[in-house]
Amino acid sequence: CGIVGYVGMRSAQQVLLDGLEKLEYRGYDSAGVALTQRDGIRVVKSKGRLSTLRSKLEELALPQSGCGIGHTRWATHGEPSDVNSHPHSTPRVSIVHNGIIENYGALKERLVAKGYTFTSETDTEVLVKLIDSCYQGEPLQALQAALAKVRGSYALAVLFKDYLDTIFAVKRESPLIVGWGEGENFVASDIPALLKYTRSYSVLEEGDMAVCTAQGIRFYNEFGEAVEREKLTADWDM
Ligand code: GLU
Repeated sequence: CGIVGYVGMRSAQQVLLDGLEKLEYRGYDSAGVALTQRDGIRVVKSKGRLSTLRSKLEELALPQSGCGIGHTRWATHGEPSDVNSHPHSTPRVSIVHNGIIENYGALKERLVAKGYTFTSETDTEVLVKLIDSCYQGEPLQALQAALAKVRGSYALAVLFKDYLDTIFAVKRESPLIVGWGEGENFVASDIPALLKYTRSYSVLEEGDMAVCTAQGIRFYNEFGEAVEREKLTADWDM
């Protein structure tokens, strides 16, 4: 339902929680974050209010992370529960997802045949395992190959364990924007999530991929060609 991503010098945990709070008006039943750490990606998620996630994170007191993705879920496939909450992960990839993967049943059968096991009932877990199955060290190629097999709607923010300072964002039929900062950049499903930090943003077009680091954002269209996307300014207050 709501997506936020952050990469930069601030505490990603703080920026993600702030952003998700601004997206609460959309409604949600669970929330979670994936934060990069020196040696990998740490996922913390739970059913219920953002305050539940917030206390879990406070208790854990993780080392500060400068890159992460966060999600508030509005369950479509699988009841609201800790396990069904996003992010969904493999040891190499973590994703948050808005939307619905229509052919997830058929995809799941193929992945099970390849040896993947599933712990949640979500379409999103199928998606992350599909991406993992296409991954050979090149995130863009993995995302392209995986998404070519998918029918449905998605806005995705993705972390790869091999690229701990980069957020990959992709969208089809679900809204997704990126926000521009100074030495920091953002991903979000909607502008209010970003307004505390920046007013400068770009809208992803159908099939677009954005590669976000602290230094910049690169865009690719659905054919994998490098493209430019207009920088817009949000001139309204929340
Ligand atoms: N279909 C996904 C799920 O049920 C994503 C729902 C959402 O957009 O929050 O977990």
